Amino acid sequence: MALMTPEQFEESLKSLRPRVYMNGKKVDNILENRNTRTVVEANKASYEWALDPRYKHIMSCHSPLVDDVVNRYTHVSASTDDLVKKAEAGTFTAEMLGTCIYRCVGYDAFHSLASTCWEMDRKLGTEYYPKFLEYLKMVQRKDLSVAGALTEPRGKRNQKTIDWPDPYLSLKVVEKNKDGIVVRGAKINISGAFASHELVVLPQSSHAPGEEDYALAFATPTDAEGIIYICQYSPYSAERDTADSLEELGNPRFGQRETSMVVFNNVFVPWDRVFHCGETAYSGKFVARFAKTHRMTCGGTCKVGFMNQIIGACKLIQEYKGLEKVSHVNDQLTEMVVLRETGRACGMAAAMKGTEDPPGSGVYLPDEVMGNVAKLNICNAFWRVMALAGDIGGGLVVTMPSLKELSNPEIKDYVTEFYSFGSDEPTENILKVHKLIQHWTAGQHGVATWHGAGPVMAQKIMLQRVVDFERDKNLVRQTLNLKGKDREGTT
Ligand SMILES: Cc1cc2nc3c(=O)[nH]c(=O)nc-3n(C[C@H](O)[C@H](O)[C@H](O)COP(=O)(O)OP(=O)(O)OC[C@H]3O[C@@H](n4cnc5c(N)ncnc54)[C@H](O)[C@@H]3O)c2cc1C
Repeated sequence: MALMTPEQFEESLKSLRPRVYMNGKKVDNILENRNTRTVVEANKASYEWALDPRYKHIMSCHSPLVDDVVNRYTHVSASTDDLVKKAEAGTFTAEMLGTCIYRCVGYDAFHSLASTCWEMDRKLGTEYYPKFLEYLKMVQRKDLSVAGALTEPRGKRNQKTIDWPDPYLSLKVVEKNKDGIVVRGAKINISGAFASHELVVLPQSSHAPGEEDYALAFATPTDAEGIIYICQYSPYSAERDTADSLEELGNPRFGQRETSMVVFNNVFVPWDRVFHCGETAYSGKFVARFAKTHRMTCGGTCKVGFMNQIIGACKLIQEYKGLEKVSHVNDQLTEMVVLRETGRACGMAAAMKGTEDPPGSGVYLPDEVMGNVAKLNICNAFWRVMALAGDIGGGLVVTMPSLKELSNPEIKDYVTEFYSFGSDEPTENILKVHKLIQHWTAGQHGVATWHGAGPVMAQKIMLQRVVDFERDKNLVRQTLNLKGKDREGTT
């Protein structure tokens, strides 16, 4: 069996040498730095669960490509059943981690690469698809963690890519030779790449003829020469850096959520890892198919898992405060459940209505309308759930003292007495649950939910392109038997 144990995963990271910078310093060891360690832990958990008899039906599957059991996060969906399992895995990992599953962007990029490479080969006579399959087989056999990178710095959005004064604001080919290509530029906001083995890269800013040097998709080891990670740093990072004990934090093991800018300073990519190079007519398809897949993930699966955590914390606080029979609190909890289940329903519908795209490719992608609706719905639903959690949690969510006060003999008794709500629950537990709600409502997850898989305007534009308003108009014409210049009555 190809699957690595969590210990083997951690060991495998030791042989990689990613160049990582955070908070003005080089991170010498991502396994030891407290913030980068959270990503190692999250990825490690995905190896743990794939072998755990309780969860392996969600986190692993049979891959016909290598005829073996593989981690689900490396499998390209070949049926709507696979898409449903993919959705279930997204919710499961999110609720277990309480943060990002850093492997989902790579997983979704595999779907886009498989379908678009297949199509390009058929239409253009290129030979990308067999190369991609060989790469995917290697990933599955070695059980590698793969991150995904699409988002670029970009220049002024009202200018064409080729008119930007700095040509490297989109990742660009600077050299092609018999062995491969050399690329320069950057990708931004990239989730967890420094603690993965591989990074798959998709194009973002190539739209038209003339932009061939930006029409790029490839895979690279995360520690390839010339790759540099410049990590985010937030108040939550500082808190983790300086905490006496990780138990004080809102998510002790897995943290907030970690991204970095990935700089490509003349990085060499051999031809066998290049899956798109210059075919501008297909760059948009890579983006659209990735977005279609990722919107189901971000909209209808992982946020459902996040909401499970938030709802659980609110229910505990309701009990600590003796509010079990208060109708407006129960009403708020019900509203949260409805928002969560609407999210789940959209994700499931996107999976169940998925189709082979393009026909004949063997690759199944979620339904475009339901995937976009899932993401649009969750953008507002997630803010609303956080607002309701803030209401139930009360001011303590943001005014709570440090858990360290419980070890300070001078004030320990005051904190224990006055933050107990008169309940039997240990004050430490009460403060920890409030800290978890602080972690959600006053952290990065609101904006992250909004922007992950693209801001709302991107989903609205896509819906306007695909929704069949003509059909709806015809229903009204039929109902009213409307007659027009070139139309007889319809009954
Ligand atoms: C926590 C987090 C994790 C992420 N992880 C990944 C990852 O792993 N891999 C990855 O590739 N990406 C990742 N992303 C990137 C994410 O997909 C982008 O943030 C998202 O697509 C928005 O792009 P942007 O941040 O550049 O914002 P912008 O594109 O700058 O959007 C800001 C605003 O400008 C508007 N706008 C932008 N361009 C135009 C235009 N041309 N016309 C009209 N309006 C416009 C938008 O509608 C929006 O209102 C992540 C983002 C976050 C927040």
